[in-house]
Amino acid sequence: MKTIPEFLAHAIALESQTAERYDELAGAMEVHHNTEVAELFHRMARYARMHLAEVNDHAIGLPLPHYAPWEYEWGEGEEPENFPHQDAHYKMTPFHALKAALKAEISAQDFYATVAADAEDLKLKALASAYAQEEGEHVLLLQKWLQEHPAPDEGWDHDMDPPSSGE
Ligand code: ZN
Repeated sequence: MKTIPEFLAHAIALESQTAERYDELAGAMEVHHNTEVAELFHRMARYARMHLAEVNDHAIGLPLPHYAPWEYEWGEGEEPENFPHQDAHYKMTPFHALKAALKAEISAQDFYATVAADAEDLKLKALASAYAQEEGEHVLLLQKWLQEHPAPDEGWDHDMDPPSSGE
């Protein structure tokens, strides 16, 4: 990644997909009346949208490249903030939700930090490190919330009256 428009196109894809994914997870939790976790995912979606708005502001007047999904350069491994759907259990506790979100935010932070570290263009370096710092704030916030929501006891996913029980 060499130019600011290339970088911004990646940031827009990353932040909008992140917001959508958090909304999906929030919706799934609402279906199961898991309100506390739903609210938490909604809040993370709002943070991603705030960041997206900021990225869009930076992109005003710049011709951004268009990429097919496979053309994005996310660096090592997968697309950042792409946490697996199987992490979303319908009885997941705030602890599990926070853990999943933390993983997502850390990989976004890593992505931005790597771009910043590799950038030769000083403006790109500054922009990418500002974004990495913003994700770092989300990481700190999630770590703080995790202290307030310790791991549940084993058997948290045991359902006395599972939805499929017909008796
Ligand atoms: Zn974030």
